[in-house]
Amino acid sequence: MNHTQNTNQEQKKHFLTSHKSIRFTAALCAAAVLVGGVAYAATPDAIAAEPTTAVSESTFTDVVVTTYDETEFPSSDLIRLDASVDGAIILTVIHQKVDAAAADQKFIPSGWPVESRIVSTEFNPTADPSISDGRKHEGMDISTRSQIIPIYATAAGTVVTANFRSDYGNQVIIDHGNGFTTLYAHCNELMVSAGEKVEKGDVIATTGSTGWSSGIHCHYEIMLNGVYQNPRDYI
Ligand SMILES: [Zn+2]
Repeated sequence: MNHTQNTNQEQKKHFLTSHKSIRFTAALCAAAVLVGGVAYAATPDAIAAEPTTAVSESTFTDVVVTTYDETEFPSSDLIRLDASVDGAIILTVIHQKVDAAAADQKFIPSGWPVESRIVSTEFNPTADPSISDGRKHEGMDISTRSQIIPIYATAAGTVVTANFRSDYGNQVIIDHGNGFTTLYAHCNELMVSAGEKVEKGDVIATTGSTGWSSGIHCHYEIMLNGVYQNPRDYI
């Protein structure tokens, strides 16, 4: 467990003992940010406010100051809010009418981004000499045997980047709204634009060999709260 996690644990503990299931009006949550079907907000004034009956809105039914589970709701926003928790800032979760558990699932990367299972270079963020060619590699390369084939979004989300950069070539980055982002690089053709919403399984690009690449493949990365994940753990 690293320092950040320790800090989060301590702050979470403080949070759990300080605030329990108090209802506020939606008006207190003007700063709420919708994240993958669940909204989070910091409401510094909420502690002093009187609990009131929840206001019914079209997208959510009530606003509850509640505990949370970092595993269940992995989010960079939560980490940021954790860092602010000092007794004055609290976390608010807005429960939507939708089934939160089901909604969350589709925003979590799963499966292969291409119809190929040929991993040419494994995930190797520490440049472990025993893995693949021993070079540092923050994603997984999936060879498509020289074929230009579709690349699918592995989870629903919003395209935040669809452009060319010299090393990754044509790339797509999708923010899944819960701390997860996925990246698909060396594409031949990009089929989406920044700002576009995508569903899991949507075609977002085709495989290629643009940028620093020696053959047609998909370089696939998953990040969770800014930390590279081994794509093998999600397929
Ligand atoms: Zn790669």
